Amino acid sequence: MEKKRIVSGMRPTGRLHLGHVHGALNNWRSLQEDYQCFYFIADWHALTSEYENTEIIKKSTIDIIIDWITVGLNPEESVFFVQSSIKEHAELHLIFSMVTPLSWLERNPTYKEQLKEMAHKNLYTYGFLGYPVLQASDILMYKAHGVPVGEDQSPHVELTREIARRFNHFYSYVFPLPEVLLTPEAKILGIDRRKMSKGYDNAIFISDPKEVVNKKVSEMITDPQRARRSDPGRPEFCNVFTFHELYTDKEKVKEIDKGCREASIGCVECKKIMASHLNNALSPIREKRAELEAHLSIIENIIDEGNKKARKFAQTTMEEVREVVKI
Ligand code: SF4
Repeated sequence: MEKKRIVSGMRPTGRLHLGHVHGALNNWRSLQEDYQCFYFIADWHALTSEYENTEIIKKSTIDIIIDWITVGLNPEESVFFVQSSIKEHAELHLIFSMVTPLSWLERNPTYKEQLKEMAHKNLYTYGFLGYPVLQASDILMYKAHGVPVGEDQSPHVELTREIARRFNHFYSYVFPLPEVLLTPEAKILGIDRRKMSKGYDNAIFISDPKEVVNKKVSEMITDPQRARRSDPGRPEFCNVFTFHELYTDKEKVKEIDKGCREASIGCVECKKIMASHLNNALSPIREKRAELEAHLSIIENIIDEGNKKARKFAQTTMEEVREVVKI
């Protein structure tokens, strides 16, 4: 039986960090078992905010594909492609933009939030307002049954469903309505206890070398109430402990929990233990990255192959679209 399809993408605006691993990539990896996955580099989406700083886009495209492979995404099972290489996305975006009421875009909650969050950039552009329409074309092009997203992105999938409904109503049934596949929340925070983000300069990157990881972990903010070594700590309020839960074996985690509450372990020691476990987990990822960086033609071939598969699918969809739109 043919597997159901899902589509998801990432904007190439820098290297990926542990927030991406626990917030998306681990989920993407397990979805590969049950779905035919189309994972893409959303470089046109990157342009919506990075139109003045485009150098980062190409470099990040390669970096991100390497990150995907090193954390276990498999280009033989899934289709990895680059959005701007499949020009059909632009055509579908244009057609959808004709049928999408402006009010749907203006009321999009993430639009307003991002305008505020990225107040240092001029995002009052036509492209930025319309990015959910481009997202709809990315998803519907492959007639996706589902879209793995975090809670904050689910309004976009709802908008995609609205656009599909409206298109199907005006012309003919072409697009199935994709479901939201909610990704479990990533619990880990950045080293300053805010959301992990490249923009906040608080991220531990997948490709960080051992020394950099050690330094960042040593700077991590712990339980804010544990001011002195002799104060008992509260692991449930400590981000270092959250990392332990992900990277340290269960027995040791119990021991640290107890030691923290009794103040028999200090934060410096606790962080060193965590950093060593985190480095152990990242070590095979670094080795794989070094291997791929030495053979970049492998990555280029993966992108070419993925683009071919995606293009073939997209061309078929667009033939259907043009036929029903009669254009
Ligand atoms: S001992 Fe460890 S878990 Fe406890 S507050 Fe310090 S860093 Fe956090």
